[in-house]
Amino acid sequence: MSRYIIKQTSLLIPTLREAPAEAEARSHQLLLRAGFIRQLAAGIYSYLPLGWRVLRRIETILREEMDQAGFQELHLPAMQPAELWERSGRYGAYGAELIRLQDRHEREFVLGPTHEEVITALAASEVNTYRKLPLRLYQIQTKFRDERRPRFGLLRGREFLMKDAYSFDRSWEELDRTYQAVRDAYRRIFTRCGLKFSMVEAEAGAIGGEGETHEFMAPAEIGEDTIVSCLACGYAANLEKATAAAAGEHSADEAERQAPAIEKVATPNTRTIEEVGAFLGVPSSHILKTMIYMADDKPVAAVVRGDHEVNENKLTAAIGCVTLELADPQEVLKVTGAPHGYAGPVGLDIPVYLDRDAVLHGGAVAGAGEEHAHVRNVVPFRDFQPAHIGNYRSVQEGDRCPNCGETLHFAKGIEVGHVFKLGTKYSSVLDARYTDEAGREQTMIMGCYGIGVSRLLSAVAEQSSAEQGMCWPLGIAPYSVHLIPVSPQDPDQAAVVDQIAKELARQGVECLVDDREERPGVKFKDADLIGLPLRIVVGKRAGEGVVEWTDRRAGGRTEVAWQEAARLAAEICSASWETL
Ligand code: ATP
Ligand code: MG
Repeated sequence: MSRYIIKQTSLLIPTLREAPAEAEARSHQLLLRAGFIRQLAAGIYSYLPLGWRVLRRIETILREEMDQAGFQELHLPAMQPAELWERSGRYGAYGAELIRLQDRHEREFVLGPTHEEVITALAASEVNTYRKLPLRLYQIQTKFRDERRPRFGLLRGREFLMKDAYSFDRSWEELDRTYQAVRDAYRRIFTRCGLKFSMVEAEAGAIGGEGETHEFMAPAEIGEDTIVSCLACGYAANLEKATAAAAGEHSADEAERQAPAIEKVATPNTRTIEEVGAFLGVPSSHILKTMIYMADDKPVAAVVRGDHEVNENKLTAAIGCVTLELADPQEVLKVTGAPHGYAGPVGLDIPVYLDRDAVLHGGAVAGAGEEHAHVRNVVPFRDFQPAHIGNYRSVQEGDRCPNCGETLHFAKGIEVGHVFKLGTKYSSVLDARYTDEAGREQTMIMGCYGIGVSRLLSAVAEQSSAEQGMCWPLGIAPYSVHLIPVSPQDPDQAAVVDQIAKELARQGVECLVDDREERPGVKFKDADLIGLPLRIVVGKRAGEGVVEWTDRRAGGRTEVAWQEAARLAAEICSASWETL
């Protein structure tokens, strides 16, 4: 048999009848059951031959598209001196996710969770003139993050594969073009991998940066992110970033005219918005929810409508702090004069961030800053001075699109890719500078672009699976065709299998032959689990040259001459190559 034909008896494909109990996500269960991966420790996996083949096919697509977009592949160290991370300011800021270690000389190192520091230091030392810019680099590499909750198999690992790319441009306009080129490449990558995805506006997180950022989301029930989109105009953002159309223009003057003077009311043992609302007979939209936070260890208050939630990302961005945490009960008491549940903006001596939708008509109810009491008829600017008014809340079901006013749609998604305009965040602190045409020193303008390669594999598995097994998209399937003789020892079947296998090999179609002496039920169950997209079963009618053909992506079985099955398989595969 040709080198293109692989016999199943020669492969390590340890399929399992039952899903291991710890696997919650369907993709995780199936990848374990189909023998694609095995867990070594929480969030740390071995890729067995089939899983590794899928990864390598994804990598091939990544390389072709990144090369096409003008990026050069390189490979950076996973083990990095802590000193570099101290220079960027992230040694502390990255927190417990950063894996730290010491060498024999007790020098501090980290295992790279991402590579902005290393690549920027490289650019700083190797590039110093405008003539070498723009520069676009990428790598495919193992990353380490000590995630608080490694979950769902490869979806959130502690050791995982990432394709990370970095660009160094001379101007923001040049970065805009690079950014666009990467987004186009990402669309092609995910399409070729057979993933359903959407690109959403996102919020710059720990990686930070001055500019735009987008995420690529794969819709899936188990997704940990929420995609907020407008089906009418195409607006799409993740929950951290999404905004809703403002509830309406509120004038503080008007509110003041309508509202009688502020009045304190006794509200014994009513801490929650629901309790206060029920006790006073007001809807939660007419209550101000006051949350006390520590922003880089300084207290601030966020005030939103009682039926809204504070969006900590938006608040962090508005404050411009590095860390934002809810204040503990003692802090709340110290700052507001009341235990948790009775804080209110009136008389507060710390900066108040008032959400624009919380500027209510006719006055609102708020905590009185003393236990068992609230105040009514609170009017912003009359009764308290917010330091800032802005958009500090999360959107929620029923909110309207900020662009066109239609109702926003919510769906769960898996973040498979992320693109950032970093600007000079790293190049300025790590001295990535160059001399321009006029001989002036300039700072490089950076972008960074990640795809979770192992997460992408899982996300495709999540979307392309059913209870009993997978159906891999042709672009990344470990093999294209599963050729299954029901009784491999039967001479007629063996002869037909041999002919089909040779023909497929001649056409360059990758084919896995299930030559195992197993009961047909076992063979078909395993084949469903493994999930190759095309299937040819050679059985009782082999003597007449008739086989059973299935394109599993469409479903249905047909009996055809073996030549026809081989022809169909070759045709489908070559059509998929032509679309590349
Ligand atoms: P998340 O919000 O899911 O933690 P992130 O914002 O931390 O992701 P980035 O730092 O932008 O992720 O990393 C780039 C890409 O790497 C992500 O888009 C994702 O596809 C992938 N990725 C991030 N963390 C993990 C992980 N723990 N396991 C697998 N893939 C990951
Ligand atoms: Mg993360």
